Amino acid sequence: MKIRNCLNPSKPSFSFEFFPPKTDAGVASLLRTVEELAPLEPGFVSVTYGAGGSTRDRTVDLVTHIKEKTGIEAMAHLTCVGHTRDELRDVLRRLDAAGIENVLLLRGDPPQGQTTFEPVPGGFRYAEELVRFVREEDFNFCLGGACYPEGHVETASREDDLKHLKAKVDAGMDFVVTQLFFDNAFYFDFVERARRAGINVPIVPGIMPITNYEQVQRFTRMCGATVPMRLALQMERVKDQPDAVVQLGVAHATVQCMELLARGVPGIHFYTLNKSPATRMIVGALKGRS
Ligand code: FAD
Repeated sequence: MKIRNCLNPSKPSFSFEFFPPKTDAGVASLLRTVEELAPLEPGFVSVTYGAGGSTRDRTVDLVTHIKEKTGIEAMAHLTCVGHTRDELRDVLRRLDAAGIENVLLLRGDPPQGQTTFEPVPGGFRYAEELVRFVREEDFNFCLGGACYPEGHVETASREDDLKHLKAKVDAGMDFVVTQLFFDNAFYFDFVERARRAGINVPIVPGIMPITNYEQVQRFTRMCGATVPMRLALQMERVKDQPDAVVQLGVAHATVQCMELLARGVPGIHFYTLNKSPATRMIVGALKGRS
């Protein structure tokens, strides 16, 4: 199934993102998480591509395994980091041969120790180039990409970032998924600006329930997402009580999702960090409400 066909504001889909674990025990635990989330009937799940292009085989193997064993549509992420176009073509061929129909194409972050992104010789500098490459080759994937309601961390201005997003979408993207955000105002404003700029593909909000405050502070420092002052103060107050942090994180994300659904989003993508409880509580509450 092509994901573009399940992104519909009149029947929004929930989707779950995982990362490829480094060990066999981690993989077994992830597969249990997938099983626990399956009853929520996700429209699709996705598996990230490790920083530095380090998980090529594990990403391909995991999406193939999940799709075969559970029947859930599984999307592979793929980044340009460290790969020549021939290597990227090989990964895409493997995905195609395994029956994977959806790929999220990304540039990736600069490898550790580098501040700017430098492509390898024969590789790509921007996700847009990878999208164009996939469209020029003989593949029939449904293609997703990333977008940034608060602007990408490297960009000089949100206007430039939007211009680059438009070029990336025009190169052949079917939908985009946002970076995580904790304040819906950023998403609504972004969608409005994107539509004005002529970007007409579905823009799926990416939501990460906070379950560990230090971890979220680390992520937000890396990706530039703003934690609203009130939420930050509430988190500070309970940061030494793990259960209270989860309760607060789940409550905040549930309210975010309810507003997003009420205002007609095509789906919601959850950054699960390979754990099921918080996402189960949120989606359970949302489904109970309809
Ligand atoms: P691009 O779209 O190429 O943009 C990168 C930067 O370059 C932006 O600042 C943009 O404004 C600028 N730019 C783009 N085109 C041009 C141009 N023509 N001229 C000048 N500047 C330009 N990372 C991983 O390693 N693995 C993953 O699996 C992964 N999954 C992700 C999933 C989602 C939903 C999101 C939001 C992010 C994900 N990331 C992942 C992180 C992502 O790789 C980083 O945010 C990365 O820094 C940018 O990737 P991109 O595809 O958005 O890049």
